[in-house]
Amino acid sequence: MSLIDEIRRLKKERNAIILAHNYQRPEIQDVADYVGDSIELSRKAMDEKDAETIVFAAVDFMAESAAILNPDKRVLLPTLGARCPMAQMLTIDEIKRAKTAHPQAPLVLYVNTLASAKAYCDICCTSANAVEVIESLDAETVLFGPDRNLAEFVQRKTGKTIIPIPEWGFCPTHLLFQPEDVQILKIQYPDAVVMVHPECSTETQKAADFIGSTSQMCRYARETQAKTLIVGTEEGLLHRLRKDNPTKTFVLAYEGAICPNMKSNTLDRLYKSLKEEKNLITVPEPVAKQARKALERMLELKK
Ligand code: SF4
Repeated sequence: MSLIDEIRRLKKERNAIILAHNYQRPEIQDVADYVGDSIELSRKAMDEKDAETIVFAAVDFMAESAAILNPDKRVLLPTLGARCPMAQMLTIDEIKRAKTAHPQAPLVLYVNTLASAKAYCDICCTSANAVEVIESLDAETVLFGPDRNLAEFVQRKTGKTIIPIPEWGFCPTHLLFQPEDVQILKIQYPDAVVMVHPECSTETQKAADFIGSTSQMCRYARETQAKTLIVGTEEGLLHRLRKDNPTKTFVLAYEGAICPNMKSNTLDRLYKSLKEEKNLITVPEPVAKQARKALERMLELKK
């Protein structure tokens, strides 16, 4: 029996579902029940009422969020070392300092944070709904962490004052995209449109025709008349884009944009975590209780 058949067999036996982020390896996306961005997968995890186990092929903070929102399910992360460096950039001390300095400002945290940080925030957001979340708040000044580029994007879109915490939080993978790479590709593919993720630098965003989350990019790619798209996000998304749009051409804006943390999940590790039910992700209930409020407030914003 092949590894894929064995995973499918075990999945049934364990009453499990496999959720895979858009940045996962192609073979993991292909074996998953659902592929999507963090908000789509959070909703899927909650919709799957009968499943007892969720194998979350992504990184630490996403599996933590699934565990917080589904306390009655087992959440497994195929690789325990799949940790997002951006999430590590925001410390509790930093949050406390910012809150003391700006006591009236609500704190919005990107879901790319650890549960211990989420426990301090008023509401979470993803890159897909950050603008909507900030606009829903009755405040002109907002504390926002940890991604500086997303904070600047939201400030431009909403006109509100967004104070980034920490001052320079960033995604190392998205920071690899340079506006010069995009300019060169535009000469090579003159009819192409450029879409990039808001975690890219502001300069790279300015070189794009469209800025959006991975799910928004998938929609844009479907709807645009353009036949060639230059893509500024982690290379895993290209697998889904090519599958969904077989007649279009997708070019990664920088070939080296590979997140080693997302890619540390392999089919073999996924199989082992499911078989041995290992790498169980848990969040202590006092922390989970606070973080859950911030996640649920976000999820209630738009069904
Ligand atoms: S792509 Fe960036 S934000 Fe996403 S897991 Fe990797 S390092 Fe973290």
